Amino acid sequence: MTDVHTIAVRSKNMAAIRGCDTKPEICVRKALHQAGFRYRLHVSTLPGRPDLVFPKYKSVIFVQGCFWHMHQCAMFHWPKTRAEWWKAKLMRNRAHDELVQDKLREMGWRVYVVWECALRGKNRLSAEQLVASFTDWLNCDLPYGELPAPE
Ligand SMILES: [Zn+2]
Repeated sequence: MTDVHTIAVRSKNMAAIRGCDTKPEICVRKALHQAGFRYRLHVSTLPGRPDLVFPKYKSVIFVQGCFWHMHQCAMFHWPKTRAEWWKAKLMRNRAHDELVQDKLREMGWRVYVVWECALRGKNRLSAEQLVASFTDWLNCDLPYGELPAPE
């Protein structure tokens, strides 16, 4: 027997569980904007065209998909078909990420990476946790920081 009500309730619950039901980058923008941060988007004059740029803090954020950027987490799996092609492709992505981050650091910019799994996975963080983690990193001296899903 089909229970229409149950389906509607379930899909509403699913939306709540997902938390971030839009592109991860939009979630990060919204959370930080609501917390009072002001930033520029996709500044093309900087290496790698960072997703969010905080000139006041000389810091940038990249919001990275775990698959495309080979994050070592539960969201990453090697494709079963065309394995060699994918390996070459993803290794190129990684090399590009490292090059971009090195260039930014040489220019005096600090780099923070927010991983997709921190926003979408079953262990995803709340907007408040995201803001708190980024703020902690801004207040420390490390040139690089990243935010994966908690273990
Ligand atoms: Zn991940």
